[in-house]
Amino acid sequence: MEIGNEETTVHDALSLTYEEWRKLVVEDWKEPRFRADQICGWIYAKKVFDCHGMTNLSKTLRDKMIYESLVKLPIQIKELKSKDGTRKYLWRFEDGSRVESVLLDHGNHTTACISSQAGCPLGCVFCATGQGGFVRNLTAGEIVGQFLLMEQRLGKNIDNVVFMGMGEPLLNDVNVFKSIRALNHPKMRNLGARHITVSTSGIVPGIRDFADFEVPVRLSVSLHAPNDALRGKLMPVNKRYSLVALVEAMRYYQDRTGERITIEYVLIDGLNDDPQLAFEMAALLNGLGVYVNVIPCNPVDASATGNGAMRNSLKRPAEARIKAFCSALAELSIEFEVRREKGADILAACGQLAGATK
Ligand code: SAH
Ligand code: SF4
Repeated sequence: MEIGNEETTVHDALSLTYEEWRKLVVEDWKEPRFRADQICGWIYAKKVFDCHGMTNLSKTLRDKMIYESLVKLPIQIKELKSKDGTRKYLWRFEDGSRVESVLLDHGNHTTACISSQAGCPLGCVFCATGQGGFVRNLTAGEIVGQFLLMEQRLGKNIDNVVFMGMGEPLLNDVNVFKSIRALNHPKMRNLGARHITVSTSGIVPGIRDFADFEVPVRLSVSLHAPNDALRGKLMPVNKRYSLVALVEAMRYYQDRTGERITIEYVLIDGLNDDPQLAFEMAALLNGLGVYVNVIPCNPVDASATGNGAMRNSLKRPAEARIKAFCSALAELSIEFEVRREKGADILAACGQLAGATK
């Protein structure tokens, strides 16, 4: 992406791919190729974003960088720390839009949960982001910037990244794919493809493009219900892409990549937690290699979610109900785990990100 006026083109540095850096350095700046590697090393490995600090570059090159490129980092508005070690960041971009990211500490490894859109247009009834409406797609640089700044704050490398923050990544696939290329490229952040997961609410064409994408990252599908009637009530996106089309796209992904797919299933009291639905889900996903993440519904600000009667019924099921649903999965020999909420005390758990200071 380019910003600037007729005289100079100012490149948005964090949105550049490795190939774009190479082209810029060699063709425009008339420098040897290895300079691109050095610049990427400073930004992605050392987290040095100001070219004055890039000490092995010549003064002439640094001057060109000052005039013709700009590292536009998100501005940190807030950092909240949970008692379980989770950290939540609220960022602001130059146009004033805000997103949140979460850094999860699992003891022996860390996971960054990043946002791909400011808001989300899909309006799932149980999700604070969806109920807040849509602002805009993030640029690749704004996506990468969240990760790099959290890594800088942490002071060591983050092990995994999940696109499970605000927004629907496959409605912003061009920029999301670009950000993945940067995170994965050996000369940039060099994060292994298997350490990157994209979660989607079921954007069928996006899943197909994702299956054909050259970096074999992991796919997670937010299912939440095994039939169209129920899923349509919880997730308006189901009216656009039905379960038949979604499952077909998942098969395409699995045929192309051979990768197991994670199914996310938010368990909501009395709505989708009947063990019978686990049997229905098994029938729907028959023949696919899946791993189910059962997520007991996290509370979100009541005024922000659902509508009318639906709003009051979005509760986490009692432990016995959660167990009954899981027993059905076990009986069906479906591998699963119950995702225990992290960071709920700072509203950093799944579905709680609203892009506001709380
Ligand atoms: N838009 C993408 C990615 C972001 S949401 C998607 O929907 O997959 C990440 C996960 O959090 C999704 O599985 C989503 O369904 C889940 N989630 C949303 N609201 C939740 C809530 N209140 N409790 C638990 N999980 C929730
Ligand atoms: Fe958007 Fe995902 Fe939230 Fe649904 S769950 S509203 S798709 S962010």
